[in-house]
Amino acid sequence: MRNLRLFVALAFITGRLAAQTPAPTVVKAGRLLDPRTGNVLAPAAVLIENGKIKEVGSPSRVERDAPTGVKTIDLGKATLLPGLIDSHTHLLLNVTVPSEAEIARYGAFVPGLLLAVAAKSPAERVLLGAQMAREDLESGFTTVLNLGHSGIDGDAALRDAINAGRVPGPRILAAARKLTPPGGYFQALNPAVAELILHEDFLEVASPEQARRAVDEDLFYNVDLIKVALDDDGIGITTPVMSAIVEEAHHARKKVAAHAQSKNAIQTAIDAGADSIEHGNDVTEVQLKLMREKGMFFDLTPTFYGGFLPEIFNSSIVMSPAFRAEYAGGAERRRERYDALVERIRKAGVKFAAGSDMCWSYPGKTRGQASATRFPVLHTAGMPSLDVLRAITANAAEMLGWQDRVGAIEPGKFADLVAVEGDPIADITELERVRFVMKDGQVVRNDLAPH
Ligand SMILES: [Zn+2]
Repeated sequence: MRNLRLFVALAFITGRLAAQTPAPTVVKAGRLLDPRTGNVLAPAAVLIENGKIKEVGSPSRVERDAPTGVKTIDLGKATLLPGLIDSHTHLLLNVTVPSEAEIARYGAFVPGLLLAVAAKSPAERVLLGAQMAREDLESGFTTVLNLGHSGIDGDAALRDAINAGRVPGPRILAAARKLTPPGGYFQALNPAVAELILHEDFLEVASPEQARRAVDEDLFYNVDLIKVALDDDGIGITTPVMSAIVEEAHHARKKVAAHAQSKNAIQTAIDAGADSIEHGNDVTEVQLKLMREKGMFFDLTPTFYGGFLPEIFNSSIVMSPAFRAEYAGGAERRRERYDALVERIRKAGVKFAAGSDMCWSYPGKTRGQASATRFPVLHTAGMPSLDVLRAITANAAEMLGWQDRVGAIEPGKFADLVAVEGDPIADITELERVRFVMKDGQVVRNDLAPH
């Protein structure tokens, strides 16, 4: 069965490449910044053939080596960067902030999640995902990790549709359903009906046997990696269960992304040999050291940093003065904790990437624009601009095991490029104003004046 699916997928991809291989192209720009080294090539040119980068160098050299009849795109003074990688997102979920009374009872996230799962069909969600995917790509995200909330296999289906050229979007690494401990996420739910809707987004695991079966169920949908939520609300995933998940996933050559916020959950993920810790808020110094020694990635998710919640609350709901004051206080506490976390990660020398964890409706912004606001805040939290760029390019590529394909502008890699008008090192908010996007050698958008 799986071989048949693979065959069908390959047939689509081959058919598409034969039909629309883009012409060789030279992209010229005032500057090209390599996030790995911080080196700037100025001026710069990139030769692209068959959707891949063939040569990078000075415009005179690249144009000399280019085949006759090559198409040239001149981006003027702009700065070229590798296509951006959002290493933690949720394309099939767009949570609208609930009312103040509901937030008090269920939190801001669960009501929207429940509505998505219980009121929308999987088909409706995957079409929502198609919109979010296009919006992410338009903002410069050429690769994303979709870590759960996928309406069974919606993210895998969306990935295949994008790869086949049927809908525009980034390269997606899909995790399909999240593995959770019993009671995770939906513990506030009436247990008489919870079972019926839970399984659209989650696979519950309480024993090593269930863990292996859950991994196999996700593998059926050709997932790219396994996502485990170790400690969301419920009783938590034990080390034997987590070890079974990691063993089964690694046996199939899939990485395991571990959502873990508490010290205990982080320890379980480390002991079991997960590949990345998502969020990781309460990580200890000893754990950071262990992660560095094991080569584990810390995937930062600065979703609620920089006044994000007050901003979407303000534009979404009516709030009482007391509620408003409480959230303002929470924002300040979050800021202090986040600044400290960023500094500790840098000092520990642990490998890191960053993801928006975007699943929120942000009035007035597309999904891509909302996600792009989540990376400059890392700089506000004390991370140097170059490290922010590394987190969402080369580092993320290494975390997902795609360092040979994406994350840098060099020969042999996919021609995934973005450009900003200014210097992102001097002003990292340039990431919120991506003006040029190319994926697979094809221009997605170009708002830079023609030169
Ligand atoms: Zn998430």
